[in-house]
Amino acid sequence: MSWVDDYVKSLFTLRDSEVYVVASGLTTSGPAHMGTVMEVLIPYTISKTIRSYGRKSHFVFIADTMDSLDSIPAQLTSFKELKDYLGMPLYKVLDPYGCHNSFGYHFLDEVLLLMSKLSVECDEILTADELYSEGWYDDYARLFFSRLDDVRSVLENTSFRKLPPDWKGIIKPICSRCGRNDTTSVTSFNNDIITYVCSSCGFKGDMILGDHRWKLLWRLDWPSRQDFLGVDIEGGGVDHFTRGGSWDTATEIHRKIFGKEPPIGFKFGFVLIDGKKMSKSKGLGSLSDIMKFIHPSIVKYFLLKHDLEENRNLRMDPRYVLTLYEEYKLVSDGKYQDIKQLRAWELSGGVRWSTSFGELLIYYQIYKDWDLISKLIKDYKTVNDLKQYVEEWVKNNLLPDEYDVQLKPSQPPNSAVDLILEFVESINESMSDVDIHNKVYELARGRGRDPSELFSAIYTLLFSKPKGPRLGKFIKVLGVEQFKAIVNEVLKTSK
Ligand SMILES: [Zn+2]
Ligand SMILES: [Zn+2]
Repeated sequence: MSWVDDYVKSLFTLRDSEVYVVASGLTTSGPAHMGTVMEVLIPYTISKTIRSYGRKSHFVFIADTMDSLDSIPAQLTSFKELKDYLGMPLYKVLDPYGCHNSFGYHFLDEVLLLMSKLSVECDEILTADELYSEGWYDDYARLFFSRLDDVRSVLENTSFRKLPPDWKGIIKPICSRCGRNDTTSVTSFNNDIITYVCSSCGFKGDMILGDHRWKLLWRLDWPSRQDFLGVDIEGGGVDHFTRGGSWDTATEIHRKIFGKEPPIGFKFGFVLIDGKKMSKSKGLGSLSDIMKFIHPSIVKYFLLKHDLEENRNLRMDPRYVLTLYEEYKLVSDGKYQDIKQLRAWELSGGVRWSTSFGELLIYYQIYKDWDLISKLIKDYKTVNDLKQYVEEWVKNNLLPDEYDVQLKPSQPPNSAVDLILEFVESINESMSDVDIHNKVYELARGRGRDPSELFSAIYTLLFSKPKGPRLGKFIKVLGVEQFKAIVNEVLKTSK
């Protein structure tokens, strides 16, 4: 069975809810990456699967815009002005591109755009700064302060870290002088008055809880939010779920402070690019490259066919990516019966393409005209789905030899001219690609010659290189008559 069916079925036995609330939260602290895709795709897939079993679900996405900017992402180091905003909550940080009210909202929009490209639909989108300013966290802050010792012991026991004796760090105020919320410490809490000091600018002062210029410590924020949103299911990367991690704290806060059962968790593996956690290279491997060269359904298929906790390793090698396209088509054609692959294909959108991506690469290089190609393959939908990706592959020269069919006719070796001419005589429009391909073997062997000699001579004639695509297929796409015309043209000029 596929992981998602396993998971959802066990969920139904563990927890009975009228509407299963599935949550996903993300700190919008920089450009999206493959980890971001997992953070939205996995919960969405679970939510969708719950519905497919006839139950109700609600998928809520929360952007952690109150988190502070703790470092400047590598892609943004040229924006020097961002340095002044380190340590400030993301909804107060400058949008370096100038198109949004803040940094946090700019990158939230990027995530939403990514979701729409992946056809991931949220039922609700929330931002932490709005939740705070609407007062959703107020009573939780009061509760935690009123049970400071219990909260402290949960934090110490679940994070394996001793807190100082005078610790009151339930919340992180936003310093009213320097605007940071990662360098402030609470010194007292009385009747909703919070006094604090800031180690960055030396400010000492107070604020009122109801002003909402503060956030809860992350390990307390998470269970509070889950409680007021009524979350049944929430997951995250394996790193959140290690011993001493924030999931353990959240769970204990639910049990010991709220007196309730915590939501059901799930964890998913890392997405590696070429075996590495983060691709540092500027070449293939960034999310924008991945989305430029790989159809979203293939991206989803790849991520969903693995078991939930398994690491996924996407090799950004054109040959590997082509095998993914190929595999997707074989699964959709019913030629692969593996249940995990079939389920991943269904969950990816269950798209069917009549012509393979590899063939379209060849068609496009020959004809450069999508209208004509749609007519030749008698399928507009496949062309519409895949044309932008095909164009990017050709434009960026990602073509492995067997797909690189830019015509560059040149003189073949003289010793093979007789065989080529005989081959040209022996083929016609009515033959299939396999017949044409086999003709090469038949002819060469009949003359006691090596078929590879004839193949490489024909490739040289067509492409000025000894390697090329599957010849029968290529000649069919090109048209037998057109092929003959090229051969005659080249051999005529040699005479
Ligand atoms: Zn912007
Ligand atoms: Zn300060």
